[in-house]
Amino acid sequence: MFPNHAQPLVTAPAETSVLALLLAEGPLSRVELARRTGLSSTAVTKAARPLIEDGYLHELPPERTAPGAGRPVNPLAVTADREYFAGVKISADALFGTVCDLRAGLRTTAERRLGADRGPAAVLALLHGLVDEILDSAPEFRERTRHLGIAVSGDVDRAAGRVRYSVLPGWQDVPVAEPVARATGLRVTVENDVKALTVTEHWFGEGIGTEYFALVTIGAGIGSGLVVGGQLVAGAYGVAGELGHLSIDPAGPRCHCGQTGCVEAIASSDAIRDSVRRATGAPELDFDGAVQLARGGDPAARAAFARAGQAIGTGIAILVNLLGPERVVVTGEGLDTYDLFGLHIREAYAANCFKAAAKCPLTLRPLPWEEWARGAAVLGIQALFP
Ligand SMILES: [Zn+2]
Repeated sequence: MFPNHAQPLVTAPAETSVLALLLAEGPLSRVELARRTGLSSTAVTKAARPLIEDGYLHELPPERTAPGAGRPVNPLAVTADREYFAGVKISADALFGTVCDLRAGLRTTAERRLGADRGPAAVLALLHGLVDEILDSAPEFRERTRHLGIAVSGDVDRAAGRVRYSVLPGWQDVPVAEPVARATGLRVTVENDVKALTVTEHWFGEGIGTEYFALVTIGAGIGSGLVVGGQLVAGAYGVAGELGHLSIDPAGPRCHCGQTGCVEAIASSDAIRDSVRRATGAPELDFDGAVQLARGGDPAARAAFARAGQAIGTGIAILVNLLGPERVVVTGEGLDTYDLFGLHIREAYAANCFKAAAKCPLTLRPLPWEEWARGAAVLGIQALFP
């Protein structure tokens, strides 16, 4: 978060537990909240009071579960429109913006294509314009938005608000949070896009209630976000979850990272395209052309996708053997060609999982770009917590 002195909304552990549970699960009675958090009813009531007074929670009308079931209960609910959160995903050729409410519901979206200049100054100027556009789309957005989350692929130093490395040209150790906070007047959090998406799925999606959870993205890049003990793993050097750079084939192709036989060097969309180019002797072939060949039954193209699927499935199995997640969500634009390698992913996954680890289900979750922008906005919701 930047500026770093900004105060979270909840600080006491009891308030934190109550708000987090209501955000994830929707309305609950005080009795149910007490049961689920392990707090006393008195502690729940005390924790909820300041959040009700500040307008973040409200009481629903009383509901009586059954005739003669005793005193009616007023479930507590999050007031979704109490505060809004802006999010922007920076991709290689566009910016995707959104405003979400407190329950991570999408309220508006907008998009800006990047121009020829993709350096930091030009992109951040476009980003500022996009944030103005989404916040001006409704008066309450401008009034009740304090946080902006920015999600970008690459190596991000969240605490310092800097992008250390990204595929965008000239993005090497670029301060982002500080200049954007100055330009927009918002509190700004910058995070790696896969990590932001992992938190969003953990809090509001497939990962709700799990202590151990992983999200894997496939496509142009291959990466993962890990949740251990209910917390996103950042890693001491900021590279936890580099699934794409697990070296799984010593005789495999050279990776752009310098290693040999990385999952990404075999299974990224560029790697699949290169493999089909080599096999078919068509140096001009693009990825869509490779997909068409494979769907048309070309054996070399089908073999390239099969090998990619084996690499991805093996990589996910290694992750599952190490981490033991309750479930893994697989997402990313690579799902568009799941028909070509899905079977191979599943076979390699099953073959390489160690015993009970194979119980961990793989959930496919196609996520359009709005979801990546939503992941950026959720960084602001996360910043309400200590
Ligand atoms: Zn690599």
